[in-house]
Amino acid sequence: MFRSRPLLPLLLLSLASLPALAADDAHDHHGNHPAHVHGVGKLDLALEGNTLTLHLDTPLINVVGFEHAANSARDKDTVRAAAKTLRDVGRLFVTDAAAQCKPAEIQLESAVLPPALLGEKTPATESTAPADGHADLDADFTLVCATPGALTTVDASGLFAAFPGFQRIDVQLATPKKQGAAQLVPGTALIPLN
Ligand SMILES: [Zn+2]
Repeated sequence: MFRSRPLLPLLLLSLASLPALAADDAHDHHGNHPAHVHGVGKLDLALEGNTLTLHLDTPLINVVGFEHAANSARDKDTVRAAAKTLRDVGRLFVTDAAAQCKPAEIQLESAVLPPALLGEKTPATESTAPADGHADLDADFTLVCATPGALTTVDASGLFAAFPGFQRIDVQLATPKKQGAAQLVPGTALIPLN
């Protein structure tokens, strides 16, 4: 039956369907999350006056091992445990003792998780759950440092140790002394600030 039809239209049809497939693929993996690559996180670090802010943007899978809503009791326990670890900021990010940095505020947010499960007291800002099966977690850490001039490094080894799902973290840095980018991997997780 196919042989009776001209070959060319079939070929054109196949070719025409290729870009559509490629677009679907791109949507699945990058649709709502331009930087969503499993294993890779993004960290924006800024020092302004006494305030050190760290914004971590990561595929949810890196911290809890899945990206769907936490339906089962086991999933919920996993999320609670991860949130508890994330809120222990001094364990994740080690700053120079002389800088005397203390956590002031920590906010966790993910489109597929209820804020309360992440330990948030107030509802998060309106966010829509991704339709592509992927989900991110945003974590904002604000620290206040009594002696910010003594801050020379931030060591993120603890983050890799606590969450083995991270294979790489791309850092963007903005301090009064330095602006730039750094790439962290397990075992090499020291961010120089000067
Ligand atoms: Zn994903």
